[in-house]
Amino acid sequence: MFLVRMLYCSVLNGIGDGDVEKILDISHANNALDNITGVLVYNGGHFLQCLEGGRRAVSKRFVSIAADKRHKDVEILDFSPIAERRFPTWTMQYVGGTNLDQGIVSTYTTGEFDPRRMIFPDAIVDMLWRLAQ
Ligand code: FAD
Repeated sequence: MFLVRMLYCSVLNGIGDGDVEKILDISHANNALDNITGVLVYNGGHFLQCLEGGRRAVSKRFVSIAADKRHKDVEILDFSPIAERRFPTWTMQYVGGTNLDQGIVSTYTTGEFDPRRMIFPDAIVDMLWRLAQ
């Protein structure tokens, strides 16, 4: 199995009450079956997600996620082979809303949380790791 890490960001598209919980429920179930791990951050209308796992499993899941109408403007930030997982125990750790530490965000990017302005994948993963602690 080739282990990969995928990073993408997207913009909220008319999500309703309870939609994030529904997304997390299906994510925990599917990701556990597919041995995918990672982190999902939502803040200020932006999603940022890291998916780690087998290349085929991550690719297949991403195709489904990208077609989801609950978000739009999906932008791939990275798709790379990795030697080991950064988030090995999380089927999908979620950080959102007021739980997001803007102090950590401002270490990596200027202004509000907007992953479209971030370039370097390793810095994005570092930020995700710190946000999710
Ligand atoms: P189905 O539920 O039959 O989905 C078929 C298609 O419809 C898929 O493309 C799906 O994306 C889309 N879809 C499903 N429900 C809705 C809805 N309520 N509104 C609009 N479109 C819908 N799933 C995971 O398994 N793991 C993840 O880590 C994960 N992360 C996500 C992150 C974000 C930001 C979003 C928006 C969704 C995420 N999802 C995740 C959910 C994912 O998009 C699919 O809904 C889920 O994987 C089930 O898709 P499916 O193809 O197996 O089946």
